[in-house]
Amino acid sequence: MYVINEAIKPKMSIPKKIKTNHQPRKRFGQNFLHDTGVIEQIVDGINIQRDDWLVEIGPGMGALTEPMLKQLDSMTVIELDKDLSSTLRMRIGANAHADFNIIENNAMHVDYHQLYQDYKDTTGQDKQLRVVGNLPYNISTPLLFHLLNFADVIEDMHFMLQKEVVDRITAEVGTKAYGRLSIMMQYYCQTEYLLTVPKGAFNPPPKVTSAVFRLVPFANKPIVANDEESFAVVVRECFNQRRKTLRAIFKKNALLPTLTDEMIETLEAQGIDMQARPETLSVEDFVKLSNVVI
Ligand code: SAH
Repeated sequence: MYVINEAIKPKMSIPKKIKTNHQPRKRFGQNFLHDTGVIEQIVDGINIQRDDWLVEIGPGMGALTEPMLKQLDSMTVIELDKDLSSTLRMRIGANAHADFNIIENNAMHVDYHQLYQDYKDTTGQDKQLRVVGNLPYNISTPLLFHLLNFADVIEDMHFMLQKEVVDRITAEVGTKAYGRLSIMMQYYCQTEYLLTVPKGAFNPPPKVTSAVFRLVPFANKPIVANDEESFAVVVRECFNQRRKTLRAIFKKNALLPTLTDEMIETLEAQGIDMQARPETLSVEDFVKLSNVVI
């Protein structure tokens, strides 16, 4: 059980300037936002309603936390760095107007179903999580996949990542950035590119440009794979050889089933050309493909 309720009464306003001697830790992917214009744009893009339950991953020194908290009654943050979480606890915990909860843990190890249930038990309210974070880039993709396991209790997610990854997640079929990550994310979620964030908005500045995007897990997926694990294997193996045709990929790959003439006929009847390259297949095409061959 997570300790999620330390119900804090409204008292004082939140201090404007974040004063801390914290030395950014590289291994925790710490690049702190300091550009107030960018912070405002990100928070606006989330479109917070007062009765939302926000869960922020990696609040750091609270650059996003504080402006979001002003608009909320209830918020939970998950921070791995104990120095940062105790500073936040002292600063926000002592002053916040909202029900503000800190989980000191690795976001990769959190069971979000449990978190959802605990929130429900504690508050009596049945609320899906709205997940937000300027994510540590080193764990970004595994964390996204971890969160997809909890899509049923997540209303939406707003994250900042390196722009190149956001381009891939939100890419349209046939474009250069389109690939495995686009298909896997777009199978589970509606994806939307929101905002480009320059390096200078952070301290220390990261090596690459960043971007903010939105993921909205489908309550009902537009198309469902019969076997999601096999679907993931088909997608992975196809993009390992994205320059080849589907026919060539299936011929040479021991992890993929051998195509029968009947399968090829069924696929072609569904509009999937075996001479095509993987990057020309939509998410729906990949689902059809895996449903036929597995
Ligand atoms: N949101 C803040 C900080 C971003 S830096 C801002 O925008 O300024 C990334 C933050 O994620 C840091 O606070 C870092 O300590 C934290 N972090 C890194 N790995 C984490 C993990 N696995 N789980 C939770 N928090 C993590």
